[in-house]
Amino acid sequence: MGLLSEGSPLSWEETKKLAEHVRNHGVEQFINLYERLKDRKGDVLKWGDEIEYMLVRLDQNSQRAQLNLRGPELLKILQEKEQTSPSNHPTTWRPEYANYMVEGTPGKPYGGTLAHFNIVEANMRLRREEVRKLLDEQNGEAPLSLTAFPRLGCPNFTHPSYEPTPTDAGASKSIFIPDEVIFSDHPRYRTLTRNIRKRRGEKVCINVPIYKDTNTPSPFIEKFPNDADGESARAALPDHIYMDAMAFGMGNSCIQMTFQGCCIEEARSLYDQLNPFCPIMLSLSAASPFYRGYVSDIDCRWYVISSSVDDRTDEERGLKDLKENKHRIHKSRYDSIDSYLCESSERYNDIDLVIDQDVCKRLQNAGIDRLLAQHISHLFIRDPVSLFTELINQDDTQDSDHFENIQSTNWQTMRFKPPPVNSTIGWRVEFRPMEVQLTDFENAAYVVFMVLITRVILSFELNFLLPISKVDANLVEAQKRDSVLNGKFYFRKDVRTCPKQCTGNIDKEYALMDINTIINGGPIEGGADFPGMIPLINQYLRSVNVDVDTRCTVLTYLNLISDRAAGKLKTTARWMRDYVDQHPDYKHDSVITDKINFDLLTLCNKITRGEHHPEGLLHTQTSRTNDDIPLPLKKQINQDDNTIKQHEENMRMKSWPEQNGI
Ligand code: ADP
Ligand code: MG
Ligand code: MG
Repeated sequence: MGLLSEGSPLSWEETKKLAEHVRNHGVEQFINLYERLKDRKGDVLKWGDEIEYMLVRLDQNSQRAQLNLRGPELLKILQEKEQTSPSNHPTTWRPEYANYMVEGTPGKPYGGTLAHFNIVEANMRLRREEVRKLLDEQNGEAPLSLTAFPRLGCPNFTHPSYEPTPTDAGASKSIFIPDEVIFSDHPRYRTLTRNIRKRRGEKVCINVPIYKDTNTPSPFIEKFPNDADGESARAALPDHIYMDAMAFGMGNSCIQMTFQGCCIEEARSLYDQLNPFCPIMLSLSAASPFYRGYVSDIDCRWYVISSSVDDRTDEERGLKDLKENKHRIHKSRYDSIDSYLCESSERYNDIDLVIDQDVCKRLQNAGIDRLLAQHISHLFIRDPVSLFTELINQDDTQDSDHFENIQSTNWQTMRFKPPPVNSTIGWRVEFRPMEVQLTDFENAAYVVFMVLITRVILSFELNFLLPISKVDANLVEAQKRDSVLNGKFYFRKDVRTCPKQCTGNIDKEYALMDINTIINGGPIEGGADFPGMIPLINQYLRSVNVDVDTRCTVLTYLNLISDRAAGKLKTTARWMRDYVDQHPDYKHDSVITDKINFDLLTLCNKITRGEHHPEGLLHTQTSRTNDDIPLPLKKQINQDDNTIKQHEENMRMKSWPEQNGI
């Protein structure tokens, strides 16, 4: 969840007084950083993933699955090795929001060679093993890569169990989540929780539509026994699953990826080009249909996490006239991006961009171009929500904590990351929407697919830009139940005209497509064909002469993505829904009982361990290690080569201009 600064946290009142100070110096730090690093060139493609794991405890005796709060204890051991040999250890571990979470990344970023695809999955497996070794498997402890724990916030959902503190003494004041759940070895997380609530002026409020099954009460209205001041009853909507704490969102897991550009311009271009993929990949990775013990009507976590840290005041949310606050703000600080960064993308910036005008002027006076200045001054409309005494006074030429303070609490679908001060790291972008999958195989597949998307974009100079408003509409669509099958997404029709040459009517540039067409290609409105991301990737792979082993690895991954997009395989969310639906204890009342949860997560653990191959979620042949290439894959490689050749010829005969050289 971003950087951890050491020290003693300030209260919200103190932090608020220093907000202008943090912003002021944060901007100065960015200006210095930009001045020093803007001409940095020649960095190579590097990339890496981040995966968040949940520690669960599957207790056979009680037939109950709980979240295990041993994160801090495990983390100390996990981090020991990387501290003793920092450059050589294959994994790195970081704390996450909850005591039942840990975040693992590869020890070093991967590089430009495609052969690295062969070790992605093995590294993920190694990470999981490192955690598993420290757990008590006899007592059902297991590391799951689960996007959302189905009974998060239900009575006794953790091990050990605690009571919530729904008074002002509690950081979140939640009627469901005890503060003991929040990461306890560093004050940052509790401070964030309390300050977000204080800044907002009330508890955070999350209402997710409930899935109306045949026996679900209608209207569905809950009573909350420990809601002494009635705040929850007022905030909860009928027919919705109500949640009231940061943990309901930040306590979910995801996969994030970081890509380094060769220079700032390439990073800016990747930031823009990857943005339209955020909703698409959210839909394709959908894995979180259950919240607080109920079946919901959404498949993804995004809205939940976005609301779980929404610190905007009534005024900022437009419920009252602006008096105390400066801006009316349209989105949570955890939300989709509001603007593109490249000049040639500017015509697609079509939503109201709230910026701090003074910050923007200052950045421009310092020689920063308008679009980057706007981007930073949009991030800087936010207040700092955690601040540590030791870090108040900084040397703006050397430090960047004030900049990072604001930057790292703007949790957007994409993040533009400047090089850290005094490091060998270049300009990077982070792709943040994807939900985490149960198996290392699937996670590797999504990760490799995204790396290939960046390669295709950069090598073939493809253009996927869409108006920001359409990407936002897609993000809403993506979270709907089964959007991968039924959703219609705005997507660019002609991906081969470079942004600089686009001058006509923007609305003619895109059409509504389903995920299958976007990923696998197919006819779109007006009789044209959309090439499809996987066929484009295959063309790219042929153009770079990749070795058979890597080719084979990639193929197994692409097959998974392709079949999920085509609906031949289920998303994790759909698979989980079907499992619950068929569970003998399920009463078709949208309730996930302790027993159903236990059985579901026990099965998930078996799937993760490769001991169970669920029908419809995965192919039977999964996982690519370096064993012999199975015959069916060899055949597919040959076939693919022919199909690609055919495809290329078809494309040439159609409207694709020759000079693009695909
Ligand atoms: P954050 O939490 O700030 O998003 P992390 O440090 O947790 O970032 O993870 C960043 C990811 O970026 C890791 O997968 C890491 O391997 C990868 N990474 C590290 N250095 C580079 C680099 N120079 N270019 C691209 N990716 C990098
Ligand atoms: Mg991280
Ligand atoms: Mg990250």
